[in-house]
Amino acid sequence: MQDVFNIYIDRLGDGEEEILEEALDPSFLDVTDGTLFFPEKISLQGTAYVVETHLILTLDISTNYQTYCKICNELIVLPFSLQGLYITEEIENIPSKIFDLRETLRDAILLEIPLFAECEGGCPMRKDLNKFLKQDPVLTFKEI
Ligand SMILES: [Zn+2]
Repeated sequence: MQDVFNIYIDRLGDGEEEILEEALDPSFLDVTDGTLFFPEKISLQGTAYVVETHLILTLDISTNYQTYCKICNELIVLPFSLQGLYITEEIENIPSKIFDLRETLRDAILLEIPLFAECEGGCPMRKDLNKFLKQDPVLTFKEI
């Protein structure tokens, strides 16, 4: 069975483009910190080609992920999209002539996930929080 993460460089003739279109099982992301979940397949589309001494990949990645809203602490679903990811690797550095996308993809995806998430379109509890933040200095002022 062909490994969907592998790019076979020998199959890429000069100037020939390989179209990549995969729905990847998210288990390769190996996220186990309990705050980030990938329940859906990772959609990968793009091209791979060789230019002289380099393998070049351009990729669009998308999926939905789950994490906790930093304001209301609810588990929320957020869209993930990384368009036009450009990867280049010297063929010299790939002695096996098989480029394994796993690690590169994992790093690229996890780097794009924001550290702080919030309910899409703004957390409904933010209003309460703002009210609280605005009122607090006024109260303090009156007390003085
Ligand atoms: Zn929220």
